[in-house]
Amino acid sequence: MSLNIHKIRNDFPILNQEIYGKPLVYFDNGATTQKPRIVIDEELKIYLHENSNIHRGVHYLSEQLTQRFEDARKVVQNFIQAKSEHEILFTSGTTQSINTVAYSFGERFVFEDDEIIISSLEHHSNIVPWQLLCERKKAKLKIIPVNDEGELLIDELQKLISPKTKIISVTQVSNALGSVIDVKKIIEIAHNHNIPVLIDGAQSIQHGRVDVQDLDCDFFVFSGHKLYGPTGIGVLYGKEKWLNKMPPFLSGGEMIKKVTFDKTTFNELPFKFEAGTPNYVGAIGLAKAIEYIQSTGIEEISAYEKELLTYATEKLNSIKGLKIIGTSGKKVSLISFILENIHHYDAGMIIDKMGIAVRTGHHCAEPVMQRFGIEGTIRASFSFYNTKEEIDKLYYALLTVKQMFG
Ligand code: PMP
Repeated sequence: MSLNIHKIRNDFPILNQEIYGKPLVYFDNGATTQKPRIVIDEELKIYLHENSNIHRGVHYLSEQLTQRFEDARKVVQNFIQAKSEHEILFTSGTTQSINTVAYSFGERFVFEDDEIIISSLEHHSNIVPWQLLCERKKAKLKIIPVNDEGELLIDELQKLISPKTKIISVTQVSNALGSVIDVKKIIEIAHNHNIPVLIDGAQSIQHGRVDVQDLDCDFFVFSGHKLYGPTGIGVLYGKEKWLNKMPPFLSGGEMIKKVTFDKTTFNELPFKFEAGTPNYVGAIGLAKAIEYIQSTGIEEISAYEKELLTYATEKLNSIKGLKIIGTSGKKVSLISFILENIHHYDAGMIIDKMGIAVRTGHHCAEPVMQRFGIEGTIRASFSFYNTKEEIDKLYYALLTVKQMFG
């Protein structure tokens, strides 16, 4: 079954507008995705008719919304195939999820001279929390290298692993290059040495099916706003065997069982990691977004986005002086590129005036830019609501940019 793109585009009200008098072409989906009307309506409905703080009230509104929040957790559990709903923790997003693991796992399991492995393709959010942990605990960060195509050299991982390795944290998809990493292989290698693995799913969850039990990852994290859901909500999946052993990260509010001035005992999973009033509106909105994706069909989304990637790659490659950075055979619908003798920022500004939204810069992945000896790229990231006609517009816009710079 193929997607009805016309209908899909109508589901996203923001797409139907003009920027500088030109129809909006939104190619910044790697930064954040737009929201279907049902997600916006759901949040509006809560604030208009259902709002009440959850977990704490005996009254009708509070009980109803608590139930809906917990139902949202089950929607996420089912979406990523987690074994138990207790393994689904709501956070504010990928960054908070990684910080939670880096702090809490680090407190309990990482000590002086221990080692943590990440990759050269990580977003700053999957670098800095581990660096801070290493500083705090006098541990060491090791890096899996990448080849010229933007593929991780997974065979090198064997050489990096030592008896001191405590955790491996890698992205499933590079936000800067679009490369898809064979994280299943990384997890297999790590588990042969009893090392847990965190997968940053911020750029993978929206492009294909994720099954955390099949992957056998120990932690999986993602953000709602990149998955057609609201901002300020994200997920930390963790195997219960780890989460039970890890101390709380933030404290206060719903994460306690009993507090006296002498001692506090903590609540059970998942509440132990959900201090304070959670973003229940965001969680319910995220569940709506997931239901929208499921009803559209994640396999269909994946297949159509691949079509867009192939089309755009061919088109862009035909432009003289344009170089795609990240040429792995396995990519999501995201293309990073540079234009000979034209600064990415200048190109981005001109394209913007034509109504086309792309991202320029280092994409919060400076080490990736350093690896390729560049300052930044222009990044066009496509969603299933984009079209080949829009890619043609980008193509012509880039020809104009080239012409302007002679
Ligand atoms: N990891 C990756 C791979 C990302 O692309 C991003 C967002 N660009 C993040 C982490 C951080 O996500 P957030 O800002 O939603 O916390």
